[in-house]
Amino acid sequence: MEKNLKKLISQMTLEEKAGLCSGLDSWHTKPVERLGIPSIRVSDGPHGLRKVTTEEDGRRGSVPAICFPTGSALAASWNRELLKKIGKALGEECQAEDISIILGPAVNIKRSPLCGRNFEYYSEDPYLSSEIATSFIEGVQEEGVGTSIKHFAANNQEHRRFSVNAVIDERALREIYLASFEGAIKKAKPWTVMCAYNAINGAFCSENEWLLTSILRDEWGFEGFVVSDWGAVWDRAKSLKASLELAMPYNENHFNVLKKAYEEGKITDDEINSALERLLKIVFRAYEARKNRIGKYDAEKHHEVAKKVALESITLLKNDNNILPINREKVKKLAIIGEFAAMPVIQGGGSAHVQTAKVDAPLDRIKELAQKEGIEVEYAISMSVPSNSQYNQNSALRIAENADQVIIFAGNRGRVESEGYDRTSIKLSPDIENAILQISRLNPNTVVVVQAGSAIDMTAWIGRVKAVVFDWYSGQAGGSAIAEILFGVHSPSGKIAETFPICLEDTPAYGTYPGNGIVSWYREGIMVGYRYYDTFEKPVLFPFGHGLTYTQFEYSDLKITPDVAGENDEITVSFSVKNTGNMHGKETVQLYVRDMCSHVLRPFKELKGFAKVDLKPGEKKEVTFRLGRDAFAYYSIAENNWHVEGGEYKILIGASSQDIRLTGRVKINKD
Ligand code: BGC
Repeated sequence: MEKNLKKLISQMTLEEKAGLCSGLDSWHTKPVERLGIPSIRVSDGPHGLRKVTTEEDGRRGSVPAICFPTGSALAASWNRELLKKIGKALGEECQAEDISIILGPAVNIKRSPLCGRNFEYYSEDPYLSSEIATSFIEGVQEEGVGTSIKHFAANNQEHRRFSVNAVIDERALREIYLASFEGAIKKAKPWTVMCAYNAINGAFCSENEWLLTSILRDEWGFEGFVVSDWGAVWDRAKSLKASLELAMPYNENHFNVLKKAYEEGKITDDEINSALERLLKIVFRAYEARKNRIGKYDAEKHHEVAKKVALESITLLKNDNNILPINREKVKKLAIIGEFAAMPVIQGGGSAHVQTAKVDAPLDRIKELAQKEGIEVEYAISMSVPSNSQYNQNSALRIAENADQVIIFAGNRGRVESEGYDRTSIKLSPDIENAILQISRLNPNTVVVVQAGSAIDMTAWIGRVKAVVFDWYSGQAGGSAIAEILFGVHSPSGKIAETFPICLEDTPAYGTYPGNGIVSWYREGIMVGYRYYDTFEKPVLFPFGHGLTYTQFEYSDLKITPDVAGENDEITVSFSVKNTGNMHGKETVQLYVRDMCSHVLRPFKELKGFAKVDLKPGEKKEVTFRLGRDAFAYYSIAENNWHVEGGEYKILIGASSQDIRLTGRVKINKD
């Protein structure tokens, strides 16, 4: 194939070469029919397919597709297997719609809860992000469809995203912002990488040779092609030299700049030809894979996959007196309040927005389940509460007062979380906060379900309610899933993949995020998310990795072998988890490493392993993790490389980053 590609490229005219590197339109690569080079189509991503269509009257839309839970929900499932299933389902939808590459996963780190696209992103932790992305990519690509891991790199804010210069020290880049890409790129080998709009330390990602060549290709061994984010290219000649093979969408100016740069000798034959080789390798791979395509996918089956993931991502944050699941002995009359129950917000806004054919409303499934249990349900759509003596006339308050239990469906309404801009507050809107306060005053048995894609400041009201369930933006089947969790058909097993701070002022990037519109200084360095809160003992509302269930788990029998190891030895960590409650459940066990011997500043602990364990009541299972050198390394600026210090490390096994159940030690000897 390699030899053939070289031959093929040698037959191409300059016009054809520059054309291939410039795209055909918004979504296709350019074909060269006389040489048998096909065109392939790419499409958004990442939590569903957005195949854009244009009506005859020019109106744009997209074909109906399955809306899966968004990125933050997917990560809260901590379930690699399910992520693979989602990937496979998306791969099938791409096949059926003749899409060769889906533009995702999106793995940028949640640096601040304000970022508008946090709902699309996975986590504040690079290891979790890259593991989740790995399974997603493997799932899609096993179906013969490519992925485009994005946005490479440090696209952690929407404010001035096209031009902002992210100023980050190299250690933070390596350990946090690049690390969420590195693991997934090395393990799952995405066909393409999408470069980000922003600059890093003065060089736009699209023209950044250090990023796209030295790191991505030379260090990580990436063999696919790099595509620009849509419109991220400034100087097309510079970007080609940096190894950006495909500039999207088609832009005549970029095409002309490329041709001229070649004619003037600013781009060599080798530069353009090797870029074409990388591009064509994937184009032909995608084209070949089309032979095995399915023409139609089973939408009902995919809806069920979406529901399974929603079930595993919904996170029970608080549950005083075990008020959940709804207890049929105590609850005869149930009040459901809020528009989010009837018209759930299932995703955020922007290029990730999926057009769905079907959306499950929580209210419908709640009514079905309540009927089976003989529970009467009353519903009030309005959450707005008048601030005067008309309270009694307000239906929300009336039904709340008369019910045995109230469930308020709240959240961030559509467009609060979106691509293109950041949030300005992390609280729910004042009318919603006010409604929660008024209702919980009338009924002590109040539960709040929150539909949102990112952490929320709950200080104003959390002390007044018995339970909080974080529903995330849980996709088109999330409505059935949340109802089944509330009624205890399943035990919740989601855990937050981002810290919920008490307030915005407590967050590590507060004061520097999002910068002055030109520069964004990442002054907190490596202290992102729980790394910051833990190290500086800052109290949080809910710690990273937290999530409750309707059952209990007991951890025991930690074994670490060997307990003294060489720098490059593999270390095996095993322990047991037992379901000691009386309900079937799943527990996400987390392994953190703490450096006890460090001569440089290191976070108090860092996630280096996790597993989701499925346990029947009374069942016990052994969990085993294998830790390589990278679990102990930090990026040394002095050595310009990863470095492992000799000395003692703690191994912490927890149910969350702050609920550590087992602790052991290992000594690393320098080889
Ligand atoms: C977004 C990308 C998206 C692309 C194509 C850009 O504005 O940042 O995530 O894939 O548009 O829609």
